Amino acid sequence: MSNNQTLLDRSLRSVWHPCTQMKQHETYPLIPIRRGDGVWLYDVDGKKHLDAVSSWWVNLFGHNNPRIKDAIRQQLDTLEHVMLAGFTHEPVVALSEKLAGLTGLGHAFYASDGASATEIALKMSFHYWRNIGKTGKTRFISLQNSYHGETMGSLGVTDVAIFKDTYAPLLIQSAQVPSPDSRLAEAGESAEDFALRCASVLEQYLAEHHAELAAFIIEPLVQCAAGMGMYHPVYLSRARAICSQYEVHLIADEIAVGFGRTGTMFACEQANIKPDFICLSKGITGGYLPLSAVLTTDAIYQAFYHDATVKGFLHSHSYTGNPLACSAALATLAIFETDDVVHKNKETSARIFEKMQVLTDLPVEHLRHQGMIFSFDVQTANQQFSRQCYQAAIAQSLLLRPIGNTVYFMPPYTITEPEIDFMVKVSHDVVKAVR
Ligand SMILES: *Cc1c(COP(=O)(O)O)cnc(C)c1O
Repeated sequence: MSNNQTLLDRSLRSVWHPCTQMKQHETYPLIPIRRGDGVWLYDVDGKKHLDAVSSWWVNLFGHNNPRIKDAIRQQLDTLEHVMLAGFTHEPVVALSEKLAGLTGLGHAFYASDGASATEIALKMSFHYWRNIGKTGKTRFISLQNSYHGETMGSLGVTDVAIFKDTYAPLLIQSAQVPSPDSRLAEAGESAEDFALRCASVLEQYLAEHHAELAAFIIEPLVQCAAGMGMYHPVYLSRARAICSQYEVHLIADEIAVGFGRTGTMFACEQANIKPDFICLSKGITGGYLPLSAVLTTDAIYQAFYHDATVKGFLHSHSYTGNPLACSAALATLAIFETDDVVHKNKETSARIFEKMQVLTDLPVEHLRHQGMIFSFDVQTANQQFSRQCYQAAIAQSLLLRPIGNTVYFMPPYTITEPEIDFMVKVSHDVVKAVR
């Protein structure tokens, strides 16, 4: 038995893999990865795969990144961890200062994954209204097809049936307003007009229900898990104005879209808005260590600042503000500064999208991009398209993970010209063969 086979068997016997019907691994084998370098993942047999999905959207500057590695190593020699209740340390303070500078929001609250960050924002919003005596504001709304994570609170505001329906009896109730995803626009209707039409439904909803609403949680500009649903920024500016008018918090879930992914450091910048809460994770450590953060306004922070203990935000996680994760985040932010990443990505983004035009000879629609997110929908009757496309791409050394009939690239920002050519060519061949 090869090393490869042994590891696969051990994994299937000992690991419960995420987002997976484990029985399907009887037919579709796991891929045992030994190491990574740049955009490449190398399996135990030495075969390489181009990581076109940045390992579930977390990796910004490639695997085996020397600068992030060095930062973690240095931190490792000083302090690996200390509880953040009653204690503080340089990496968490420095990171909080940097994030405040970038977002215009303050008092970063930390956790270790995205779902915990959205839970924290929901709890903080609810608790804020209680603290100021508006105890009727207890409910949340989100967009149709939204994704905010898998824990019970975050799943309560998620709107993806396959993840949510089984657990529906356990979840907080939330309402969904129409998604401005421009694929849903009517024929002849511009993305902007459609976004405005959706915003007017939001406005009606808030006019009726604002007294019981705590917050509107939204994925700014791109609903990634919904299949890279992109929308016009005017929706965000309208949502900001409407939420302010009706005293409903706006929570920006920038877990997937933050840190340069949509072409600006944060997606909200493209609508020139400041949310009441911002949730950050995924790319925050360059894909090195689990970390998430929620930042909010001084006014919201002040409503918790009180002699009464229970008016404080008594939420915690054991690894809150972990120094190693903070040092990885600081190194990641340093790369943005020294390498002028947001600016350079504009060229890379344009180049990738230009090369993707070869895909138009296939039956694809909605060929689209937003910064460093690229996507198209394949017209196919093949119910197994997503899995077969994944398998066919892997066989040709490309890691793609289509969502339904939506194929997307969310590559590390460091992807080079020949690697882009490879990614686009293999995708073209695979889509042609599988659809
Ligand atoms: C991935 C994601 C989450 C959840 O983050 P996890 O780290 O997987 O818990 C929440 N919101 C959005 C928009 C995401 O893409």
